[in-house]
Amino acid sequence: MKKHNYSAGPCILPQEVFEKSAQAILNFNDSGLSILEISHRSKDFVAVMDEARSLALELLGLEGKGYQALFLAGGASLEFLMVPYNLMKEGGKAAYLDSGTWASGAIKEAKFFGETVVVASSKEENYNHIPKGYTVPADADYFHCTSNNTIFGTQIKEFPSLDMPIVCDMSSDIFSRVLDFTKFDIIYAGAQKNMGPAGTTLVIVKEEILGKSGRTIPSILDYEKHIKAESMYNTPAVFPVYASLLTLQWLKNLGGVAAVEKLNNAKAALLYGEIDRNPLFKGAAAVEDRSNMNATFLLNDTAHTEAFDTMWKAAGISGLPGHRSVGGYRASMYNALPIESVQVLVDVMKALETKV
Ligand code: PMP
Repeated sequence: MKKHNYSAGPCILPQEVFEKSAQAILNFNDSGLSILEISHRSKDFVAVMDEARSLALELLGLEGKGYQALFLAGGASLEFLMVPYNLMKEGGKAAYLDSGTWASGAIKEAKFFGETVVVASSKEENYNHIPKGYTVPADADYFHCTSNNTIFGTQIKEFPSLDMPIVCDMSSDIFSRVLDFTKFDIIYAGAQKNMGPAGTTLVIVKEEILGKSGRTIPSILDYEKHIKAESMYNTPAVFPVYASLLTLQWLKNLGGVAAVEKLNNAKAALLYGEIDRNPLFKGAAAVEDRSNMNATFLLNDTAHTEAFDTMWKAAGISGLPGHRSVGGYRASMYNALPIESVQVLVDVMKALETKV
């Protein structure tokens, strides 16, 4: 039986993506070859890469607006250092918002390159909210933020307007909601949440911001080299890129980001509604900053842990325990998770209430 998969990532993908990916491993495009055994320079794979790159831009409304999409290796974590390497001037500075563990990881890497100003941090409150009301130094080379904090279940609802490049780690909410994506100059996201399997990272770059740092950048870390090579500077992660393309096609057929946002809002409203209604539970994140992707919540009385854990497991739910730094539970409701799965969880929460 297929589980109700609440894993934070790698995570649920559309069932048709699993099926089409499996087929491509056996016989890609009726070629008599597996996608795993063809050259990345073959006509068929170049077509995959080209379509994935243009579809990513199309879905975000960024086509024809001076942006390039790349599928790189190294995870979102490699972008933590590629961003300062490409954007921070020698002797320059960068501004970062510290809203969680991953934001803090990005800050750590930026410090290797120069002055890294943390404009605000919610670390003291275990990152239970998004810091607000901060000032970004006007002379920073760029501002970096994390749109969705996967571990703590917070999400930025309003982004600042600044006179400098804005870089955003959207690993855990890319393609989940409509934003004015032209506000951002670099968007990056590990594939393994809303886009595909682990192994590739989508990086969207506004070309005009590149080439200004004055640094000599090793080729593999240089966005300009990757753009020039049309995201084939070295062998790309062929299969993850193909599966990502299938997910992007699925999303387009569904009606795009606006359509999936409606579904995501309905799922989040259903679950947070129950967290707030049910006297046994409480949310872990500040209400106004709650993430529609990762809902973090706790039992008010941990004496009910065993009963609850037994019940959700019996209902076919998987991947619900919270990250160790928050505890409790984390329900990751990525694009591919159906609302029926959320209803199953809500029913279990209600059943616990009548049982105890
Ligand atoms: N940023 C965010 C917001 C994440 O959730 C993660 C991984 N869960 C990362 C960065 C790190 O991504 P990767 O493992 O692809 O390096």
